[in-house]
Order: sequence, then C-alpha cells, then structure tokens
Amino acid sequence: MTFLFGISPPESYNTLSKAWKTLGFGRMRHPISVRRGYWEQIGWGLGWVAALLAGLLIIGLRPVSPVLGEAAGVDDGDAASGPALSLAGADNDGTLREIDVPILMYHYVSDPPDDADIYRLDLSVAPHRFREQMQYLAEHGYQVVSLYDVDRALRWGAALPPRPVVLTFDDGYRDAFTEVFPVLEEFGYTATFFVITALLDQGHPDYLTWAMAGQMAQAGMSIESHTKEHPNLTARDGDFLYYQIQGSLESIEAHLGTRPRLFCFPGGRWDEAVLAMLRTLGVSAAVTTEGGMAQTTDASLLMRRVRISGSTDLATFGALLRWDWE
Ligand SMILES: [Zn+2]
Repeated sequence: MTFLFGISPPESYNTLSKAWKTLGFGRMRHPISVRRGYWEQIGWGLGWVAALLAGLLIIGLRPVSPVLGEAAGVDDGDAASGPALSLAGADNDGTLREIDVPILMYHYVSDPPDDADIYRLDLSVAPHRFREQMQYLAEHGYQVVSLYDVDRALRWGAALPPRPVVLTFDDGYRDAFTEVFPVLEEFGYTATFFVITALLDQGHPDYLTWAMAGQMAQAGMSIESHTKEHPNLTARDGDFLYYQIQGSLESIEAHLGTRPRLFCFPGGRWDEAVLAMLRTLGVSAAVTTEGGMAQTTDASLLMRRVRISGSTDLATFGALLRWDWE
C-alpha cells in the first residue's frame, strides 16, 4: 500500500536508515515491521498526514500570513481579520495590516544643466512631465493622501480613499519650491518633502530656504527629516545617529513649529541601530528606496516607494502606479 506522495513507510524508513548510517549513528532500529500488517501501515500513514498538517499549521501561523491575500481594504480601511499580533513596542492596535499604496519618489523636478551626468539626468523629472503626471493622477481617480494618513491606516485601520497615492520629494532642492509647489497647489495635492537641514541652515542656493519651507508647510505640505547632512547612516555609533537624526528633527521643529515624525534614509541605507534610534526619537514612519507599494504595519519604518525618474514617460508612469510590470 502506498501512502503520502507515493512513499510507503518501509521505503521512507530505508531512506532514513541510510541517512542515519551515513551520519555515523550505526544501524537504525526498524520502527515497524512490514509484516505487522495493514492496520499498522494505515496508522503510520495517518502519522505522516498529521505531521504534514502540523507543519502547515506552523507555517500558517507565521506573523505576516494573516494579512497576505486578504489585505486590509483600502476602501474602508478595515482591519484584516487576522489574530492580534505582537508588534513589539509599537503604537498600534495590535493588528498586522498590509495596504497597497504607491509612494512616489521624486528628486529634482527641473531641466538638468547642460553638464549634468547620468545620475543627475536620471534624478531629474522635466517640469512638463511632472505636470502631466499630476494630471494623470487626477484623471485616473487617484487620490493623493499624506504619509501620515498611510501610517494611521496601517496602525489603527484609519480609512483611506480608493486609489490612494503619496507624493514624496527627497533632498529639498530649490525646485521643490519653484516647480513642484505651484503645481501641487494648482491640483490641490499635498506632498512630503524630506530636507537635509544643514543645507537650509547654510542658505545653500540649490536648496530650499527655511522661509520657503515655512510657506510650503503653511499650505499643508509636510517638511520632514532626511538627516542634517545626508551621510551614510550604517555602522555608526549612537552619538552620530543622534546628532544627524535628532539634530534635523530639532531644526525643523525650531523653524516650522512642529516636530516631524517622518524620516527618509540617505541613499536608502539603514541598519538596526538606525531603526532603534528612529524609534527612540519618536519617528513614526520612514521611507526607503526599496521598490514596491505593499506597506505593512510591522514595517512602517521601512516603507517601499515607486521611483519616478527622468526617463519615466506617461505610459510607464501609469504602469508603475498599477505595479503591473512586477
Ligand atoms: Zn537623499
């Protein structure tokens, strides 16, 4: 009689026995005798099935599984009906959610200088293209929400509109004020700008000034932390991380009156010490350069983004939002 996957107990015993000997444990005692008959073989087979079910149960109980497949609805923001999970030390209702929200990542929105290298070209979206993209969102039913909205939806099940999308701009270039801000105002969108605070402190001509950032914040834009100096934060000691992260949070609060709770990793690089420092300093959500749009409650400090580059035409833009190239 053949049981599970065509392996009868005696055959599987032979395989086990060989492995046992190979490992140097000597001859393995035969657990059952083939001669013992039909009913014992049935029992042995049931044992296999029980072991398999137990294995599946263990896999099924891994923390991330309850939300997969049946993700929290973005329409009503309801919690996935999975068991309450231990989301250690986090400020949430204990439910692990996964919500698909494209968080678009922009850098420059301006025509690059003639001597621009390939990196600058790639990071620069032409102003007319940016406007087309914002128009596309309006025409295709996308609703621009803030990163704080997404964070609340993940933590507490707060409602998000259908087709939510988030706009983020890294580094705080001057064109965020001259090119991006007017278009956002025209469409009634808000966005998150991750600034490198030392450059604003210095009044660097290529970057936002505090006055510009203040005007944008007044209009509902989020001005958030991208550290003081944009260093690689990995393999650094606590003092360095504190200086770079807390320093930038304090600068923003001092100039704009509100302590930021969002963060963007310079160069997308992070390690456990960086995450621990963010938690200590009360940062609620952080974005990476990791591609994707699936955001989960237990990875609110490692949110994925959709990169929009200089070569992203409108067809590609639409496909990126639907993520149908994955
Ligand atoms: Zn950056």
